[in-house]
Amino acid sequence: MAKKDYYEVLGVSNSATKEELKKAYRKKAIQFHPDKNPDNESAEEKFKEAAEAYEVLSNDNKRSRYDQFGHAGLSGASGGGGFSGGMDIEDIFSSFGDIFGGSGFSGFGGGSRRGRRVNKGANLRVKVKLSLEEIANGVEKKIKVKKYVECSPCSGTGAANNNSLTNCSTCHGTGQVTRVSNTFLGQMQTSSTCPSCGGDGKMIRDKCNSCYGEGIVKDEEIIPINIPAGVEEGMQLSVSGKGSAARRGGINGDLIILIEEEKHPELVRNDNDLLYNLYIGIPDAILGVPVEIPTISSKVKVKIEAGTQAGKILRLRGKGLPDINGYGRGDLLVKVNIWIPKVISKEEKRVIEKLKKSNSFSPRPESDKSFFSKVKDFFE
Ligand SMILES: [Zn+2]
Ligand SMILES: [Zn+2]
Repeated sequence: MAKKDYYEVLGVSNSATKEELKKAYRKKAIQFHPDKNPDNESAEEKFKEAAEAYEVLSNDNKRSRYDQFGHAGLSGASGGGGFSGGMDIEDIFSSFGDIFGGSGFSGFGGGSRRGRRVNKGANLRVKVKLSLEEIANGVEKKIKVKKYVECSPCSGTGAANNNSLTNCSTCHGTGQVTRVSNTFLGQMQTSSTCPSCGGDGKMIRDKCNSCYGEGIVKDEEIIPINIPAGVEEGMQLSVSGKGSAARRGGINGDLIILIEEEKHPELVRNDNDLLYNLYIGIPDAILGVPVEIPTISSKVKVKIEAGTQAGKILRLRGKGLPDINGYGRGDLLVKVNIWIPKVISKEEKRVIEKLKKSNSFSPRPESDKSFFSKVKDFFE
């Protein structure tokens, strides 16, 4: 099913300010809140949609990618992450609880559903530099990361042994404490993180000696990452679960890969197209000449026709980069430049003087500029 436009979901214009976005989201969140619409799946769907839209549009970076590329600009590449699976209700509460200012939002009664808080490990960010060849073909990179992993002596519980782990007496293992209060929507049950156990629901009597009760220890890991063909500078790939382990059990954070592109010595990238500047001599431009053009994988032979003008662009179809979403390949654009010598011999000068008087050598401008103008920024 096609995703809805985020601005439409929130009912705001493309130029909405942050304040307008926040207001619009708050309105939708109250309207479709699951506690106000029990067992109403379409309301829950709308609640999630609004949260997803707000998550993207409230982030300058994501918003500009969305404005330029639509949903495709956010999905990035394979490897999970992003919104491929949509947000779940827990994420929404933990991400946007502050939109109502403090505990108000989670106080909608989410606590009864949420139960014990689930710890999440830290996300890791690494930069990966790729050559154009690697980008063209996709590549597996082994990435060495320093991160927290589960402590093995205590299996991540942080306790010295099974007997030293007990339910918290304040919250009886739920990790939450509840109280009733009056809010702008009437009387509400407010729940907050248990102050005694910090939301874990457990108390440790004797701490594990290896991790001092944290359940995690520092380590190093080499993680193989499959980078799909067609990625580009600035793109982020998220590999879920490969970040740091969580304190005292929980779910791992994600590994986030930031793509950097190495410059190619001869080819310049323009989206999925590649650009190449070809230089030929004056006689070759007049008489025609076979030339070799470098591509990402090899060289191709191209015939330059007799009478080719300077600035002509040849398009070698399918010789560009593969599209990351699988929509075919870009082209290789070759701009023909004609080399004008700055120093010539007396003999050469005599020949040129002679040509100058010949009728064929006076200019007859022809227009080949419409296409050139589209790509000229990359050549000039
Ligand atoms: Zn507790
Ligand atoms: Zn331990």
